[in-house]
Amino acid sequence: MARYTGPVCRLCRRLGDKLYLKGEKCFTPKCPFEKRPYPPGQRSTRRRKVSDRGLQLREKQRARAIYGILERQFNKYYEIAAKRHGVTGETLLRTLELRLDNVAYRLGFADSRQQARQLVLHGHIAVNGRKSSIPSHVLKPNDVISLTGRGKKSEYFKIVSEQIASKSIPSWLSLDAGNLTGRVLALPEVAEIGPKFNVATIVEYYSR
Ligand code: SF4
Repeated sequence: MARYTGPVCRLCRRLGDKLYLKGEKCFTPKCPFEKRPYPPGQRSTRRRKVSDRGLQLREKQRARAIYGILERQFNKYYEIAAKRHGVTGETLLRTLELRLDNVAYRLGFADSRQQARQLVLHGHIAVNGRKSSIPSHVLKPNDVISLTGRGKKSEYFKIVSEQIASKSIPSWLSLDAGNLTGRVLALPEVAEIGPKFNVATIVEYYSR
């Protein structure tokens, strides 16, 4: 499935915030946003007034960048969320959180969603005992995430297993650190997700 393949640190600089897209590097002085906290480009330091529409667009771009989703798929998620019962923004956010690549990241299998996506694409992750190589696979409560035979043999996961117990995971997931197996216990709560973007503003963007 298509994905953004450009330099991700530019996204942080363009959107004016640290989006933590690069794993460990984000917490070191090497983070480009720490060194240059202004948009990329020659005239980047010039202040420009942003319209309401521009602010709404920026929130959407921020959400897309964080979850690594292209425009078309994000639109699709919104349309599905808008048709469901309940608060559209919350449904949209839950769908994003329940993507397989995000759940693998939340469980501590990877340092970033981008890395988690690679693990899924390379066939290291299984859902309910069957390999799933689709990062956008949306999970549901009681789904079990584990490693495939290939994942169990990989050197990468030997290192992960030594470190994973020290990582904190959200309350809607459980983790058996010894077997590198996780379970979706419930739907994620918006308050706990604490997104770095305003979901209501994204809904406003699409409602026009
Ligand atoms: Fe953003 Fe992380 Fe790159 Fe810093 S290192 S600019 S937080 S992706």
